[in-house]
Amino acid sequence: MPPKKKFLSMTLMDISSPFYRQAHSVDACCESVPAALHDQGANMNMAQNIAQTSSQIGGKERPVPLNFAWLQRGAEPRQAVVPVFLPFRGCPVRCVFCAQDVQTGVGDCQNPDCAEGSRAASVEGLLLAARESLRLRHESGQPAAELAFYGGTFTALPEEDMAACLNLACEAQEKGWIGSFRCSTRPDRVDAPILERLRAAGCGVVELGVQSFADSALAASRRGYTGGTAQAACVLVRAAGLKLVVQLLPGMPGHSPQFFMDDVPAALAVGAQMLRFYPCLVLEGTGLAAMWRDGSYKPWPLEDTLESLAHGWLVAARANVPVIRMGLAPEPGLESAVLAGPVDRELGGRVKGRALLLAVRELLGENAATPAAQFDLQLPRSAQGFFWGAKGELRARWAALGLRTVSFDDNTSPQLVFI
Ligand code: SF4
Repeated sequence: MPPKKKFLSMTLMDISSPFYRQAHSVDACCESVPAALHDQGANMNMAQNIAQTSSQIGGKERPVPLNFAWLQRGAEPRQAVVPVFLPFRGCPVRCVFCAQDVQTGVGDCQNPDCAEGSRAASVEGLLLAARESLRLRHESGQPAAELAFYGGTFTALPEEDMAACLNLACEAQEKGWIGSFRCSTRPDRVDAPILERLRAAGCGVVELGVQSFADSALAASRRGYTGGTAQAACVLVRAAGLKLVVQLLPGMPGHSPQFFMDDVPAALAVGAQMLRFYPCLVLEGTGLAAMWRDGSYKPWPLEDTLESLAHGWLVAARANVPVIRMGLAPEPGLESAVLAGPVDRELGGRVKGRALLLAVRELLGENAATPAAQFDLQLPRSAQGFFWGAKGELRARWAALGLRTVSFDDNTSPQLVFI
């Protein structure tokens, strides 16, 4: 685990970015509450603030408001997504960690020699199935969905496939089946003209499989581009008026927790509006499986992964940027294909529990785990599901921090009460 000081300085590193400032402005109203402690204040002397707030309030029990805006944020209303998985289609290389055929539950539609089930997954067949699904949804009175092209390098599709995908998207919009569509692609396969073509066809969101901004990790994973290329691609997506999702792959070959600590603020600084964290797994049939077998690659241990993701999740949450996915979706066949790596069905909740613990620990500063820091917590109900981690795994850590009791109530403002 990298030193805490370094993490804090990275959190601040990108505050000068216009994108970062924009993301933070949502919580600007908190600044009119002088007695409150602000979660964005990783740069503050927290212990000093606690002392100041406590003296203002006086009395034996000293409540300190918790302006963890990210904790109180309600779940965004979610639009249904109708995905079209195009495994490896358009990909210039097959990346060492990637098994899109397994990850998406669809066969390899790029390989003409693939198995019977995969041949059914021709681009034409996949688009027909998606069209039918959208039509049926609409006819049964369901609201417009979002069409999503995943699993390959969308912006490098052969022209025939690209035209077919965009035709479906346009038809579906004209008929009111979808509001817009999204696609995923590689950072080194986007430029202004293709992004403009997507936008004109009704694309709303581009997901970039950045994986990391660290040059050495990108080189070790043979991604074929640099961190600078990835940053430039992010800026292009935003400049085209498209929403940007950045996908990160903590634990990829050559990666380190420190790199991941840098990757999250780097993604925010170049305008990421949503993030996905996919901890690197060793999947059967990939180049990584061979590297794992010959000992040249070791996946991150689960606990290290949880801690790193918690730091990253907190940085994103403070910037009001949601992490919309942690870990691969549990597609059929995925579980049996995982050879090694930090796989966990409860990954998201365990990460959030650690993130909350981390936020309170930062708030307590030097007072953490001292007699002066015995406290009760009042939190919104949304925190109840993940507060203790999986099977109460965080109980001992909360107790060591000084927690006496915790209550979950949406009618009380979140606060920390010193006893
Ligand atoms: S990681 Fe992306 S570019 Fe690489 S093989 Fe998988 S889908 Fe293709």
